[in-house]
Amino acid sequence: MSDTTTQEKKLQQNHKQSPYDSMLARFNQAADIIGLDQRFRDILSVPERTILVNLPVKLDDGTTRVFQGYRVVHSTVLGPSKGGIRFAPFVDLDEVKALAGWMSFKTALVGLPYGGAKGGIALNPKVRSQDELERITRAYTRALKEVFGEDSDIPAPDMGTSSREMAWIFHEYSRIYGYTPGVVTGKPTHLGGSKGRVQATGWGVMRSTMQAIEKLGMDPKKITCAVQGFGNVGTWTAKFLKDEGLKIVAVSDHTGGYYNEKGLNISDAVSYVRVNGTLSGYEGATKISNDDLLTLKVDVLIPAAIENVITEKNAGDIKARLIVEGANGPISAGADAILESKEILIVPDILANAGGVTVSYFEWVQNRRGHYYSEEEIGEKTYPILYEAFENVWQTRQKYNCTMRLAAYVVAIERLATGIDLEGNF
Ligand code: NAD
Repeated sequence: MSDTTTQEKKLQQNHKQSPYDSMLARFNQAADIIGLDQRFRDILSVPERTILVNLPVKLDDGTTRVFQGYRVVHSTVLGPSKGGIRFAPFVDLDEVKALAGWMSFKTALVGLPYGGAKGGIALNPKVRSQDELERITRAYTRALKEVFGEDSDIPAPDMGTSSREMAWIFHEYSRIYGYTPGVVTGKPTHLGGSKGRVQATGWGVMRSTMQAIEKLGMDPKKITCAVQGFGNVGTWTAKFLKDEGLKIVAVSDHTGGYYNEKGLNISDAVSYVRVNGTLSGYEGATKISNDDLLTLKVDVLIPAAIENVITEKNAGDIKARLIVEGANGPISAGADAILESKEILIVPDILANAGGVTVSYFEWVQNRRGHYYSEEEIGEKTYPILYEAFENVWQTRQKYNCTMRLAAYVVAIERLATGIDLEGNF
């Protein structure tokens, strides 16, 4: 079976504006604001390591297929590199480089002792059997066994992967080096995963949405919201925001958007996806397109699927007052200025979705100490980190009179540059 469906090829065309160019454009704008020294620009605008692996894997039908995988380590200045692994048909080096850079800025922004990395394999997990996915994941782990390590590079789930793949990575790596749960985060709790990790990113997106709503003086009970993407991040974000009193009027996945002006029953939609695999055929709402979802007349818009869904083409049509980036890179660099001119507040990805890596950090700490926290303890430890990061970005935005995105980059770049400077090894 093919790893790229026609529908996915169409999505891919939009997606293939270079996410790396988008990342660099923001980096350079933020660097200009603080007059960043050229040597820091040179170091931080390229990844430390770029690894491409070709993985021959036997398929269920007995044939062998070579899958292309990537791991990009953007920076290890502030600690071992940290970042998820994506399984998607459109994964390529440009995308993984951008995602790795965003991870460095994210971990620096929230103050975790990590650098940034990202990995991916170009495949469609929906057309691969569980056995094939296991063989591919184990082959990828073996190919990167000298890169991964609890003190060097620590993967986690991202789009198309979950605790299941993390368990395989943990097991394959431990077969080679002995029991090493801290080599990967986002594991099942039975295998050293942290309580609260599955929902952590969505919970963090909810927290930063609520903080932004408060700053804007909006009343949560009167807010309508649309969420694009109904996977890990989108489902938990929608659920938590509904719990906070927001009316979720639309959600979507790659099959399209689902709209109900009276508000969707999120638990019902989640159960539907659990049984059917996608939202296709969901009857609790009217079918709309993903493009329509983005331009709905709602107060809050949460893109939580893929990169570059809001570009120069549709930014002018966005009606939301607040956009919170659950996904990494959902807004292209060119769209930023248009949204800013419309006075739409954007809580940027490296801040909004940092809940996942923060709880991953606590998973790594627990694995290394052999001492495990309750879900309440995880919440108590994570909340102040995210809250402080938001406040810091808010103040930096006021200081430089810039967008929240550029303020977030400024905070991250200053920390990274200080780290490089203190290392002093030039
Ligand atoms: P996932 O694979 O669990 O879900 C992705 C969802 O997006 C699915 O519902 C899929 O159908 C949908 N989708 C794909 N293409 C789409 C399109 N063109 N339009 C609308 N929907 C589309 O992935 P996830 O883990 O929820 O990740 C989503 C985003 O959040 C990614 O950008 C990822 O990098 C980012 N992120 C994830 C985590 C995490 O902990 N999982 C942490 C930080 C950031």
